[in-house]
Amino acid sequence: MYVYNALVSTAVLMVNEFQFIDNLRRQYRLDKIGDDCAVLPKDADTDLLITADMMVEDVDFRLKWTTPEFLGHKALAVSLSDIAAMGGTPNWAMLSLGIPEGLWKTDFIDRFYSGWFALANEFGVELVGGDISRAPDKLVIDSVAGGEAPKGKAILRAGAKSGDAIYVTGSLGGAAGGLKLLERGFEITTDLHDLIANLVLQQLKTTPQLKTANLLQKLGIATSMIDISDGLSSDLGHICQVSGVGAKIYADQLPIDDELSNYFHSDDCLEMALHGGEDFELLFTVSSQNKADVPGTCIGEITDNGIEIVKDGKTEPLDSNGYQHFR
Ligand code: ADP
Ligand code: MG
Repeated sequence: MYVYNALVSTAVLMVNEFQFIDNLRRQYRLDKIGDDCAVLPKDADTDLLITADMMVEDVDFRLKWTTPEFLGHKALAVSLSDIAAMGGTPNWAMLSLGIPEGLWKTDFIDRFYSGWFALANEFGVELVGGDISRAPDKLVIDSVAGGEAPKGKAILRAGAKSGDAIYVTGSLGGAAGGLKLLERGFEITTDLHDLIANLVLQQLKTTPQLKTANLLQKLGIATSMIDISDGLSSDLGHICQVSGVGAKIYADQLPIDDELSNYFHSDDCLEMALHGGEDFELLFTVSSQNKADVPGTCIGEITDNGIEIVKDGKTEPLDSNGYQHFR
């Protein structure tokens, strides 16, 4: 019996967070789990979108590498990005904080909320609740946001079809480059308007792509969509897995952030664009008939199976090497 338990717990330890969630979904038949937001029926014309994100100090952020205002901004931005990923419009949020006593006694919380509200006001998001608790050691942030999509029109991760073109908004790798600069000791108290700061700002001042999401919702052309939080390779992997398809992307078509090459070797720039994460751009697919006037850069196409990258004329498998909390 003891041996049996040990085997079971070893197997449990070996699953990553995505496998765990997938197991949970199957075991308890949870059909609303697995996309960027849960889609719940609201009324005859509208569906509700709800998303939750947790950020833990020294895992998801470091206090010395950000400001309270940027952190408040990002806490909301990551949730708004998930609503964008469904082609939705946000309208409310709840924010819960576990705060160490030392931080509570500073101006941290006022500055954090001022950053949060600056973004909330930009997108008409109302704070409708939350919770505050004392944390023993590290700051924990739990962000929940809600929004709406027209009935049956939320853009799901499932829906990509073989032959669809793959698009991405904006540029890739900037957030990862910014993080590397912070790791190298870039001081965020220095002038934030110089060149290096642009990459750091991509990491700290996430922009949720709600305008493009809205446009895609109106155009009705996206067959699947996700936001790039873990990294292009992993998030493309999520689309392919739930859509039951493969993908081929082209390294020379990737919109790699222009400024990366000022600080990093070109191979590292590509790595950051493929696997870096936290760009919070939208990754979506469009059927080949609808390729005119798509708001994004075409980076490849959906195939029957396997995820591949074409680089220097060679086609290679592309592993999902984005961020994971547990491996
Ligand atoms: P995202 O990066 O888009 O925020 P996640 O990878 O965090 O998405 O989550 C993927 C899916 O798994 C979402 O539908 C989310 O609601 C669900 N999920 C994540 N963690 C849990 C959990 N602990 N319990 C139930 N569902 C979860
Ligand atoms: Mg997401």
